Formats: sequence, structure tokens, C-alpha cells
Amino acid sequence: MLNKQLKSWVEVKTDSDFSIHNIPFGIYSDAKTKHHACTAIGDKVVDLYELAIAGLIEVNAQVLENDYLNDFISLGKTKTTAIRERLIQLLTEGNTELKNNAALCAKVFKKQSEVSMLLPVKVGDYTDFYSSIDHATNIGTMIRDPKNALMPNWKHLPVGYHGRASSICVSGHSFHRPKGQQKPPDSEMPVFGPSKALDIELETAFIIGKSTQLGESISTDKADDYIFGKVLFNDWSARDIQTWEYVPLGPFLAKNFASTISPWIVTLEALEPFRTKGYEQEPKVLPYLQYSGEKNLDIKLDVFLKPEGGEENKICSSNYKYMYWTMEQQLAHHSVNGCNMNVGDMMGSGTISGPDPSEYGSMMELTWRGTKPITLKDGTERKFVNDNDTLIIRGYCEKDGLRVGFGECVAKVLPAN
Ligand code: CA
Repeated sequence: MLNKQLKSWVEVKTDSDFSIHNIPFGIYSDAKTKHHACTAIGDKVVDLYELAIAGLIEVNAQVLENDYLNDFISLGKTKTTAIRERLIQLLTEGNTELKNNAALCAKVFKKQSEVSMLLPVKVGDYTDFYSSIDHATNIGTMIRDPKNALMPNWKHLPVGYHGRASSICVSGHSFHRPKGQQKPPDSEMPVFGPSKALDIELETAFIIGKSTQLGESISTDKADDYIFGKVLFNDWSARDIQTWEYVPLGPFLAKNFASTISPWIVTLEALEPFRTKGYEQEPKVLPYLQYSGEKNLDIKLDVFLKPEGGEENKICSSNYKYMYWTMEQQLAHHSVNGCNMNVGDMMGSGTISGPDPSEYGSMMELTWRGTKPITLKDGTERKFVNDNDTLIIRGYCEKDGLRVGFGECVAKVLPAN
């Protein structure tokens, strides 16, 4: 439940993603600090290591002086939730424990614009799902058959594949356009070169917060205990490479050259007030995939394209609530065979498209495979992503004027190496 009375003594603008209701976790560095765990409030970063050293939060400070949050997350939800609640208390209007300690405040608070945010977790394994019905229908319509757009298994299990963790980068990076084999329709033989169909995939991802043993399965009822939180996710894809290589084993080099995540992990607890009803699933799913309660999430998601030196152009507005399969079902399915989960593992939602063409979560769908180019404010057209374009995903939940957001997921495409 959102407590509307809750206010911070730190200034938080009404359109800030980082209200007192959020209190996400990340890792930052600056000239003085190599890597400390932190939270965000308004436009500030709050150094958790310094708070622990000062005795204002109860946790071994060494866990917070770290490249990644994995050790912190491994403390378990009881502990990390208590720390988050303590942070909310320290930052709430009326509390003076931190506020009245000017020397400590000077060490603890930094401007977000003056620090670098690092990759928040070491991702051991990355899995990507394909769980938006509008996206799967659009892609199936384009590349197969409009009458049988969804494969026969699609409504019976959350389809997924194992991705690659090594190329997951934190927001703010740039990468070179991938090269690879493609087979143009008019060519008998494959050709090699830079991808001509570099695409975005508007996704979110959840981070595993509790490990399991090999052989153990997670029920939909218990799944939330294993989900630490969520990030925004751009799962870059090279459509021309993908089209030629994907048969019969699925995505490979078209998907593993770069994936971008936002730096703040918004906890499941912060997202709870924004739960909403899940998709009506027909036909009925097998018992191990059934769940009770409201398990979808109302997260507004926007994508912007910014050409070099140009303005941002909003190219898509979607919402996480369009997901057909919930995170709880994805996790239950992923572990039903006994596959073990480790803290820091990341699960991508799959591209999140809504029913309206303005809600499509990839260029492939927005331009309908390049047949309906997007015209930008500067008059140039895009079928896919050009060199030196910057893509920005923003996402937030809002209810009763209270906001919990993810910040930004930004990456720039450089010309092929
Ligand atoms: Ca994907």
C-alpha cells in the first residue's frame, strides 16, 4: 500500500522517479569512491557504505564496498527489506538522525549527475522470454502466417531461451554495430557485413534474489520470494543476422553483441502497489503455471531515439501490463525441470508490445519490417537504428500522484568496427 502521507526531507520533484516510495539499489563510483552500494532519492545518490560505517544502517559495511550488489542481495530479503525500510525511515520528514549530521550528509549525499552508475549485479546466467502476446503475434504475422501467428506452444508455456551474460552493459555505454552473416532475399548465397537491420527490444528484466539447489522447483506462489527487483532492459537485436541464423536452434549472434540495463534495481516491494490483473489466459494453463491474485504490473514504458546532435523523438509508449505471462509464471516454468537459479541471474521479459501500433516495442514492428519508416523531427527517416543514434528507454509506475521509476536505460550505436 502506498502511504500518501510519506514525504522526504530531501527535495523530490513530483516527476522524479526516485521518490521516498522507491528506494532502489545500485552501485556508483566517483573520483573518491571506487564502488559503493547506494540508493537514490530525488536527484541524489545516497552512499550506503558511509551510512553503515556511521552505524545508521545495520549491515556489514564490507558487503557495500563492492563491484556488485550480489553479496548484498545474498543477505536475503528479510535483511535487505529491513535495510530498505530503515533507509525510508532515515529519509522521512521529521527524522533527524541523518539530517542533523552535516558532516555525514556531506559524505553520504552526491548528485546523481556527478557520479557514474556501474553495472548493479554480476549476471551469472541470463534468460530471455517471449511473453508479450502482441509482440509474438506481430512477429508471427510478419515472418510466418497471419492466421497462425502464434506457435502451438505459445499459450501453454512461457517460451524462452538462454542468452549470454558477458555482453550485458549498464546504461550509458556505446557499442559497435554488429557484423555477421546475412542472406538477402534476392541473393543465393549468404553475405557478410555490418547488420543493416539493427533493432531495439523494449523489455524489462528481473533479478534473482535467492538461489535454489539443482533439482528444486519454484511454485508461482513462492516465486516472489526469489525475485529481488527489476530493471529496464534493451535487448539489442540484428534482425538480418537473426533471420538467417535462427533455424533451428533460435537466437545466437543476432542477440549477444550487446544488451543494456538501467543501473537501479527497483525492488519488488516498491513495485507491489502497482500490481494489476494479469492477462486472461485461455486455454487454461497447466496447474504448475496457475497462480492467484494480481500478478501483472502497471509500468509505463517509453522509448526515445536521439540522432547525433539532434533532439529526442518518442517512438513508442508501451506498458508492462500487456505481458501475457507473469514473472511468477516465467520463474515457475524455468525451474519446473529442476534448473537451479543463482542470485544475480537475470530474466528478460521479452519485447513488450501493446495492441496499438504506437505501443510496439521494436523497430521491426513500429516500421513493419521497414515498410513504414518512422519520420523524425529532423526530417530523416528510420527503418531500423542508424549509426550514432542513441536509444533511451524510460519507465515508471504512477498512482495517486506518487511515482516509482527506473530512471533511464541509454545506449549509443557506433559504426561497425
Ligand atoms: Ca529479447
